[in-house]
This record gives sequence, C-alpha cells and structure tokens, in this order.
Amino acid sequence: NREWHLLSRPVGWPKPEDFALVEAPVPAIGEGQVLVRNKYLSVDPYMRGRMSDAKSYLPPFELGKVMQGGAVGEVVESNAEGIAVGDHVLHFFGWREYAALDAKNAVKVDPQAAPLSTYLGVLGMTGLTAYAGLLRTASFKEGDAVFVSGAAGAVGSQVGQIAKLKGASRVIGSAGSDEKVKLLVEEYGFDAAFNYRNGDVSEQLREAAPDGIDVYFDNVGGDHLEAAIGSLNQGGRIAVCGMISVYNNTEPAPGPRNLARLIMTRGRMEGFLVGDHYDLQPQFVQEVGPWVASGALKYRETVVEGIESNLEAFLGVLRGDNTGKMIVKL
Ligand code: NDP
Repeated sequence: NREWHLLSRPVGWPKPEDFALVEAPVPAIGEGQVLVRNKYLSVDPYMRGRMSDAKSYLPPFELGKVMQGGAVGEVVESNAEGIAVGDHVLHFFGWREYAALDAKNAVKVDPQAAPLSTYLGVLGMTGLTAYAGLLRTASFKEGDAVFVSGAAGAVGSQVGQIAKLKGASRVIGSAGSDEKVKLLVEEYGFDAAFNYRNGDVSEQLREAAPDGIDVYFDNVGGDHLEAAIGSLNQGGRIAVCGMISVYNNTEPAPGPRNLARLIMTRGRMEGFLVGDHYDLQPQFVQEVGPWVASGALKYRETVVEGIESNLEAFLGVLRGDNTGKMIVKL
C-alpha cells in the first residue's frame, strides 16, 4: 500500500520535495468499517489550499501524514452492514492505494450505470459545482449570455454546455491553448471562445461578446474577472467558483480595478462552495445524467496511470495539462 504524504508546506508552486510517496501497511478495519482498494483518484485545484496552513473552509493537510481527496474504489473487506465485498464506493480518502473508512463516509456507486471515473467528474463533485454555481448562484435564466473561464476544464466545460442546453443566448469560453479553444467551439457547441494567452482578456471578451454578458462563471480570477465586470450587462451576475490564477501567489493579487461598474449595472457577485449545495444532487443527477448518457452533454477526462503519477497529475491541473477532469487510474 503506497500513499502520498505532505512533507512541507509549498511556497509558491509546489515542488516535488514537498511530498513523498510512502510505503505503509494495508490498514486494518474496525467495526462498521470497510477496506477499499482505490481504482480512481481525483486531483483538484482546491487541494493547493489544503497544502497551506491558512484558515479556510477545510482544515490544512497535516505534515507527515497522508493527504485526502475524492476517490472511487472497490470494497475488498467489510465489517459494515449494507456494504458488501465487491461493491464500489465513492469516498474522500484518495492519494493512497488502500483506504479503511467508516461505512457512513462511503457512498455506493453503480459501475453499470456509468463509468466509475465519472462519479469524480461529470456526474460527481465538479459536475454539481457547475450545475449549482450556474443555476443557483448565478441565477441563470433562458436567454442569458454566459461567459465561463477555465472553459475546457472539468467544471467550465460543463457550465458552458448546461447553459447552452438550457437556452443561453450566447456562450463564450476562455482557455489556455488553441486546441482547447477549438474543442469548445467544435465539440461542445460554444458560440465563441478565445485563448487567454493570445492577447488582452478584456479585448478578446469584448470581441467574443459584442452585446455583453449576463452571467460570468469565474474559475480563474485576475484579469478574467476584471474583463467580465467590464462586459457585464444590466443585472448581470458573477458566480465566483474559483480563482486558480492566484492559488500559487505568494503575495495577495490586486483586485479588479473596475468594481464600480457593479453599481451602474446593479451587478451581483457571489462566491459559493459546492459543499453547501448537495441538496441539489438528486435534481442534478436526474437532469444531467440523461444528457451525459445520450451524448447531449459531452465530457473529456485526462487520465494518468499509477499512484506514482498522483502528484504529477495534481501539478498538471495547476499547469493546465488537463482537458476535462484530471483522473488518476490505479
Ligand atoms: P480544471 O479541470 O478546470 O483544471 C484547472 C484548469 O485551470 C487548468 O486545466 C488550466 O486550464 C486552468 N488554469 C490554470 N492556471 C490558470 C491561469 N493562471 N489562468 C487561467 N486558467 C488557468 O479544474 P476544476 O474544473 O476542478 O476547477 C475549476 C475551478 O473551480 C478551480 O478554480 C477550482 O478551484 C474551482 N472549484 C470550486 C469549487 C467550489 O465549491 N467553489 C468546487 C470545484 C472546483 P488552461 O489550459 O485553460 O489554462
């Protein structure tokens, strides 16, 4: 059983020396617990926050201990009622090959209903983030023009497509490579997309959305947020989901210089955490599940293999190596 430990708190970009892949015994299970052999591990941008000791909505990872994250695996031992050997479960003890956990912290998933990895992505946490952030936080309504950053990523690609399926007047996405931009327009049906590395974000957004935007779903922060405020229409809404452009900063990033536009536009900007919106999970699965099954909503996964690749996969998400959800397959 191998597991990833955090050795030191990264300053700026995480370095391989901040982590170690450690050999550990397969854990023994107690009453009410199950032993899970993990099959798919999630790596997510928010994990960067848990590597620091700044106060946040989740406690910091402990130094010298195994890290945590979403995972799906097969139950290989069970001391719990209702979960049998051979069942598959979603749980929160990733970054390791074997996990012993209380059955109450495991959610059974059906490998016949959907590929196991999708419970971490398009039908899982990132999918619900897109759904809740767009529909609830940004109060999306038919006819809205929607701009989403990080648009080729797990959350962003789903935001744009849900908006389209629900009658957006125009969907615009930004991403960090020309191939990603092509994918957005040609496969995901975005009306326009641009590569933020190819020029000024505000100018590119104005060109892509000449009539302005009603919703901005922010995954990036920084100049993207300022650009979105600059293009916001009357009554526009900004859902602040993530700000990946600042996660490795060592100094606070400057804020948008044009916040006063929120007054004139009566604009609203609101942050959200997916953890507060699990009441929407049944509705999300009911509505989005069939779209995924029929291919009306497309998704990609970037899959890397082996527990030894777990750290590189995480760093890859911060760099933008992924298209769609980044998954580690064991
Ligand atoms: P993604 O699959 O979108 O992967 C992250 C992407 O961010 C990369 O692929 C990269 O794509 C892009 N990126 C990296 N650095 C920058 C930069 N400096 N400027 C612009 N883009 C950058 O990850 P997720 O879908 O899992 O997460 C997307 C966002 O949502 C993150 O900010 C995350 O923290 C947030 N989030 C928030 C949740 C909540 O509850 N509020 C829950 C889940 C996620 P590219 O090649 O385009 O640069």
